[in-house]
Amino acid sequence: MDMSVDRSVDRPMEEKVVGLLDEDELVCLTQRLVRIATPNPPADYSVIAPEMKRLMEEAGLEVRIMEGAPGKPNVVGLWRGIDPGGPTLLLDAHMDVVPAGDGWDGDPWAASVRDGAIWGRGAADMKHSLAIMICVVRALKRAGFVPRGSLLLSATNDDETAGQFGLKYVIEQGLQKAGWPMPDFHFLLEASRWAVNVAFKGRVWVKVTVEGKPAHGGTPEKGINAILKMVELFRRLMAMERHTHPLMPADTLNIGTIRGGERPNVVPDTCTATFDYRFVGPCSAEQAVKRFRRVIEMLEGEDPEFKVSEFTVFESRDPVEADPNSPPIRLLMEVIRDLTGREPKLAGTLSAGNAYWSLKKGLTATMTGPGDMSIAHTVKEHIPIKDLVEGAKIVAAYAVRYVG
Ligand SMILES: [Zn+2]
Repeated sequence: MDMSVDRSVDRPMEEKVVGLLDEDELVCLTQRLVRIATPNPPADYSVIAPEMKRLMEEAGLEVRIMEGAPGKPNVVGLWRGIDPGGPTLLLDAHMDVVPAGDGWDGDPWAASVRDGAIWGRGAADMKHSLAIMICVVRALKRAGFVPRGSLLLSATNDDETAGQFGLKYVIEQGLQKAGWPMPDFHFLLEASRWAVNVAFKGRVWVKVTVEGKPAHGGTPEKGINAILKMVELFRRLMAMERHTHPLMPADTLNIGTIRGGERPNVVPDTCTATFDYRFVGPCSAEQAVKRFRRVIEMLEGEDPEFKVSEFTVFESRDPVEADPNSPPIRLLMEVIRDLTGREPKLAGTLSAGNAYWSLKKGLTATMTGPGDMSIAHTVKEHIPIKDLVEGAKIVAAYAVRYVG
């Protein structure tokens, strides 16, 4: 561990804060938050939101419930810095989890400790991060830390359903209404084993209906089979150029639903399918839709019997990126390197989650944290306790260096 880097930060304070993090406290709080089941759907925040409010208040923060719609609370805490012009750091985690589902080895809401890990729905996505945020503020307070800049904590709703009243509301309206500072850096603590995600794919979801001509199933040549036309469209779409990006996998296309025909002995006269097209930048969602349309137009030009009667874009997000050389990201890489002794890697991923809203607004953001996202929505969801503790150390050190 190299602590010799010459910085204006308070190294003894950083070491003191990190030393004051308590493993039992982190484990107990993570367990307590996993046990407050918040599956989404149905997205009931009536227990977790007051609990997060109480935890933030007890930790010494000013707290506001920022609610863009009834039943959609975001719990936001502020620790004002002594310098009103100082930097503002937002630590962020969501309160909802995906439904538990079947097949668990035990109670998914028990948060039992086994093999050095806490097991349960939300253990890694992301009750552990809510616990880390609270325990870091407690340690900062205990150490007598006086922030120059400001620290914001947000516990948001409806991440798992890409809701409109979660962090989007906090960033676009909640903070302004409260008269609170906007963050310079949004640190979204999603599990990534500390791969620092700075590039995120765009997505468009498209519904297409293709028309055919009905005929008796015994004389298919007299009709136009809409399902076969859709199959040809899918084949062409799959052959589209896959653009690449240095930080993430190439573009993907998924056909998610397909519906057509009534019975085996009738040539289907209509077929409807929905597609999820994920693409890397630089390419706007609008350009992505054009690529999609171009394939359809080519097919229409070649085949007079190919007719599209519906083309609807029902979800659309541009790809977003943070500058990997921006000071907050470089500082984070440095902290991870210092605290873990490992070389952190920059990465990209298929969805920005709540970082989308801050990046769209022109703020710097990253999505990174302890735990493994690949087990997050499974019946094996867990967080190793050593990862939980290491994660808290990284966040604590980062807070000292960023707002200190
Ligand atoms: Zn998550």
